[in-house]
Amino acid sequence: MAKKTLGIAEGCQQTNPQPDWEVVVIGAGVAGIYQIKRLKDLGIRATVLDANGDLGGTWYNNRYPGARFDSESFTYGYSFSAELLDEWHWTEQFSPQPETLRYLNYVADKFSLREHMQFGCRVDSMVFDEETDTWKLRLDDNRELTTRFVVTALGVLSIPTLPRFEGMDSFSGASFHSFDWPHEPIDLAGKRVAVIGTGATAIQLIPEVAKVAGRLTVFQRRPNWAAPLNNAPISETEMTAIRGRYDEIFATCERTPGGFEHEPDRRHFYEVSPEDRRRLWDRLYDEPGFGIWLRNFVEIFVDEQANAEFSDYIAGRIRERVNNPDIAEKLIPKDHGFGIQRVPLETNYFETYNRDNVELVDSEQTPIVRVTPTGLETTDRSFEFDVIVYSTGFDSFTGAFDRIDITGIGGRQLRDKWADGPVTYLGTMVHGFPNLLMLAGPQTAATNFPRGAELAVNWVTPLLQYMQERGYSRFDAEESAEATWLEHVKEMYKGLLLRKAKSWITGYNSNIDGHEYGKTRYNIYNGGGPKYAERLKQVASNDYQGIRFRTRL
Ligand code: NAP
Repeated sequence: MAKKTLGIAEGCQQTNPQPDWEVVVIGAGVAGIYQIKRLKDLGIRATVLDANGDLGGTWYNNRYPGARFDSESFTYGYSFSAELLDEWHWTEQFSPQPETLRYLNYVADKFSLREHMQFGCRVDSMVFDEETDTWKLRLDDNRELTTRFVVTALGVLSIPTLPRFEGMDSFSGASFHSFDWPHEPIDLAGKRVAVIGTGATAIQLIPEVAKVAGRLTVFQRRPNWAAPLNNAPISETEMTAIRGRYDEIFATCERTPGGFEHEPDRRHFYEVSPEDRRRLWDRLYDEPGFGIWLRNFVEIFVDEQANAEFSDYIAGRIRERVNNPDIAEKLIPKDHGFGIQRVPLETNYFETYNRDNVELVDSEQTPIVRVTPTGLETTDRSFEFDVIVYSTGFDSFTGAFDRIDITGIGGRQLRDKWADGPVTYLGTMVHGFPNLLMLAGPQTAATNFPRGAELAVNWVTPLLQYMQERGYSRFDAEESAEATWLEHVKEMYKGLLLRKAKSWITGYNSNIDGHEYGKTRYNIYNGGGPKYAERLKQVASNDYQGIRFRTRL
């Protein structure tokens, strides 16, 4: 069937009862790219809409110096094509952003996916038409289109949030969120640069900026626990060895809670002697990647005392690396233990504070009060800057959904339903919002992103086929199934120290009303990848239990 591009749909709807598309995927990042590949292979009329000028999602946007993933590159690639796995050479253990973006473009070109994508298309609103069982989408330039299904691939951290300091617009130099790092290279050589925030993003960019800036001032409100990434190049020989064990790599990722090759140490913390615990930690500290977090004892995540002992160990490592003891103490978190927030991995982050051109300002003690045309003022000092980088986090999980007016059955808005946090069935759909599927949406297992994205696509696609084969025009999650899932999601937070975290994972963000600390939003499924995958499988093999289907008369 001939495909219609966006815009041609206008005026066609009265005469043509068929929607313009069978499936519209929103977002051309890691998840959206794989989703359109599967739909294309099945010959389903589908298109991807993306607000950006090109594909890549998070890897299109995050271009700050030092941006790279903390997943081993060879666990981050798609697993669906043996040919692709054979062809692609990752050059570093943890690929930098330009390489990942190149990879995603390579995938799109190899499988001719680009022609199924439309860029510069920001979806402003979506209204479900109960008569025709279709969604009507409106874009920010007022174009409209209709589709039977919408699959969202919006990303978890795609809506950056800025602080609400007085005078931010008055700054005469360059200022931007790290997510919006200029695409044209910005010359920081000799410049006076401020970085606000010390999350995983800032921890990557600070050492890089420090190398070139004349002076770098880091404004830290709360320190974050961080551990070495231990990155290294991947040689041809190593890549050949990796290719030889891809089956094993992906099988391990499927088996582990986080979708990595890292498996927790199943020995009991208290049954291992303090000396042996220390030996394990010394080894993990020097190993690449998330091993320090995910190969550790399970008690670290649930037992205050075990967590405190390990946090003390990491504090000791920070003290060894930072020359000035007062600065070292400032860099050691006191309000939370290691690993209950997402652990940033770093390369020379702590050593950066030994440099003469770097200053750490404690924004908890002396908060920023305003931005001025030439810099900013804290409660006790004024600073002059050429560049201010806001590395201040994201409106996580639900933020990208909230930016679209999504109207379901009975005129209900999704953002109203989710005002106190997401409510979903299996993290894939929402009762009252039929024919809407989410890839890597809220309340899915928090895993190595592509592993979770592939799982989601591999579940969503057969569901669409199932409906097509039976001539169903509408699905909706049952309210009771959704309520049971929510209870289960909440249950999985119990006992985990992370439930107390002041973090984007629990929905905390000081820059958004309603996201204050203590108002926990149940954003993730804490049961781990395998348990989550098993649940999806059970539901599918049980004739999509908890989902109601109907055929339009
Ligand atoms: P983040 O972890 O939410 O950190 C935001 C930082 O900004 C925090 O230090 C926060 O301080 C500070 N901040 C926010 N508002 C502020 C304000 N008004 N005044 C002063 N300070 C303020 O955000 P992120 O660093 O962008 O990281 C988010 C997530 O992205 C990571 O956890 C990770 O999952 C992902 N990420 C992944 C990679 C990778 O794969 N390698 C790299 C980067 C990021 P408080 O702590 O006091 O709120």
